[in-house]
Amino acid sequence: MEDQHAETTCIRGSYNEQRTSAVNVPIYLSSTFHQESFDDFGPFDYSRSGNPTRNALEQKAAELESGSKALAFSSGMAAISSAFMLLSAGDHVIVTEDVYGGTYRFVTEILPKFQISHSFVDLTDLDAVEAAVRPNTKVIYLETPSNPCLKVTDIRAVVRIARQNDCLTFLDNTFLTPLYQQPLALGVDVVIHSATKFLSGHSDIIAGLLVTKDMELGERLAFIQNTFGAILGAQDSYLLLQGIKTLGARLRQSTETAEKIALFLQEHPLVEDVFYPGLPTHNGHDIHTGQASGNGAVLSFSLPSRAHSKVFVEQLCIPIFAVSLGAVESILSYPAAMSHAAMPEAERKKRGITDGLLRLSVGLEHVEDLIGDLQQALRAAERVTEKVEN
Ligand SMILES: *Cc1c(COP(=O)(O)O)cnc(C)c1O
Repeated sequence: MEDQHAETTCIRGSYNEQRTSAVNVPIYLSSTFHQESFDDFGPFDYSRSGNPTRNALEQKAAELESGSKALAFSSGMAAISSAFMLLSAGDHVIVTEDVYGGTYRFVTEILPKFQISHSFVDLTDLDAVEAAVRPNTKVIYLETPSNPCLKVTDIRAVVRIARQNDCLTFLDNTFLTPLYQQPLALGVDVVIHSATKFLSGHSDIIAGLLVTKDMELGERLAFIQNTFGAILGAQDSYLLLQGIKTLGARLRQSTETAEKIALFLQEHPLVEDVFYPGLPTHNGHDIHTGQASGNGAVLSFSLPSRAHSKVFVEQLCIPIFAVSLGAVESILSYPAAMSHAAMPEAERKKRGITDGLLRLSVGLEHVEDLIGDLQQALRAAERVTEKVEN
């Protein structure tokens, strides 16, 4: 159905298991496929090139992002690295300076080996974006809201600059998922996901996706997927399909709780800053509202120092303290030493990733339990201040 809601597509897309009518897509554990005719080969030949379970997932992902072609990879980083393989030696890329730590590592450590240069730019500053474009710039890479400071980039405006300069745009849509943000509809060329996060939602698998609207670009990426070979296996494809079924309910519930937590943190005297695009005080709030239909379940906030963060984390009971996000369990992370450990300290601080910054991905626990837990951990952190000051 053309006009059904994404929540419905999560559960019932156009895929049908024709052979058995099984409600769940079977896990096709087969590396190869018997070709019954000498002359005519069937739709599948070898599972790197195509696997029925993975295909069902890819069809679902394309439908959710309103794209024409989706590809599933063994991790978000495999998807990101494969997308960059569209480039050639001599090309230049513009990357949002607030980028995921692993993408930062790929752009700074791997791309230069292939003579592909880069500029990190604050994409919220459109003049800076225009100024950074070179004749050989081929890609502008966006992440919005960004990790971990939830900065908002004006997707339409960056797409306009990219088109004027014949560049492609890649957008990492991990934080909002297609339910809350549809980048292809805003003109983005390649949508990227770490499906490890909200799409799977249960902290069980590592997976990535690329989605395009343009079929020819999708075919070029499919060629890379088959050639480089970083595909998602059939069992993980199945688990991801199962996770996607509950995405609508999970995301709605987690977002509702995140909105309440953001307001609670904003009122707390020990909290210096709260970064959440749903807060009217967030400086990207208006742009965000104009391009996304939900605020998402990730927020970050800063305490006065590393010492405060340490006590806070040690006192907190419900959220797990870990890297990653987008799961049924709330996950608290300390970006300076976790997701952004690969970034030099000066770069990190320049991007607002201070020693007191914490990122919270809100899960499905009861909001009152979460706020109660945050409250008691903040109380403990406040006592530290008193001791230090005495
Ligand atoms: C986790 C993450 C990635 C990397 O994905 P993996 O599945 O861990 O390889 C990329 N971008 C964002 C925004 C992420 O949160």
